Amino acid sequence: MDGAKDLSDEQLLTRLENFVDEERLRLHSFLAWLGEADRRKLLERRGYSSTFDYCVRCLKLSEDEAYRRITAARAAVTRPELLSAMAAGQLSLAAVSRIAPHVRRCDAPEIIARAEGKSKRQIDEMLASLQLAPAKRDVTRIVSVAAPGEPGATEIRVEFSFRGSPALRDAIERIRQLLSHKCPGGGMDEVLLEIARDYLKRHDPQKGLPGRAAPAKGGSVIPADVRRAVWARDGGRCAYVGTTGVRCLSRRFLEMDHVRPRAHGGGNSAGNLRLLCRAHNDSERRRILGEGGGAIWALSAARRENHGSPVRKPDPRPGSPRCASP
Ligand SMILES: [Zn+2]
Repeated sequence: MDGAKDLSDEQLLTRLENFVDEERLRLHSFLAWLGEADRRKLLERRGYSSTFDYCVRCLKLSEDEAYRRITAARAAVTRPELLSAMAAGQLSLAAVSRIAPHVRRCDAPEIIARAEGKSKRQIDEMLASLQLAPAKRDVTRIVSVAAPGEPGATEIRVEFSFRGSPALRDAIERIRQLLSHKCPGGGMDEVLLEIARDYLKRHDPQKGLPGRAAPAKGGSVIPADVRRAVWARDGGRCAYVGTTGVRCLSRRFLEMDHVRPRAHGGGNSAGNLRLLCRAHNDSERRRILGEGGGAIWALSAARRENHGSPVRKPDPRPGSPRCASP
């Protein structure tokens, strides 16, 4: 390949070392550009629900690659010296994604300096010594395990890994007690599945529920059958199509959007409604009304409240505490 077999030992090693140097410089540029595109919110207008969605669907990065690069790019917006340290080979991408939650701290320069040249394990130990937690991404992983009671057979399971609050632990423990008759084993799998089924039964529009209409400010109501029709037509996904023809497809933070705003005479017919994710609903509001579209924004916020949509930012972001002036 590329004449590798014809190279002398010295030439081969020189090319390898040059390649790594070039790769670091390319990564430096990539992260700087990604951070700027993220800051400008360019990717929403192209039909992607987030920078993460763009990295996975358009750039074909794996979810893990996308997560690390976005985490590093955002951290570098606050601490540009991270990019220089990466280009010089003093910090790896994995190292930066570990210290990223702490880049807004007053002592971030010291943390960055102490992380240089360290392995992931050494960085975790350093953060632990400062009583700081490294960044950790929620992970779901398919695993094949031995099937109980069937020698030699295997079955597919899903392994979950995430950090929760003590409040979550206490709530799960209480639910485990309440489900003790239904789930005598009390395994986390059984308990969480029961919670999930109960939630979906009551809230998933694809199950034919809910029957409630969605009231909006001013007494306007979207009938339940219209909402179900819109949901079915849009396939339970964001219907936004970007400037290059890419459809968003996000299933998260979905909201009913009036194509022609009610303030402009738009009605509650299925033809004037569509599903939009939070990012694209906000993007459309800015496009139609400008940044100062406060009145319609208030209506939109009221709709969100009535829909009970969860509010959670999907992409990684730096944590606290933060300096008054980073
Ligand atoms: Zn969307």
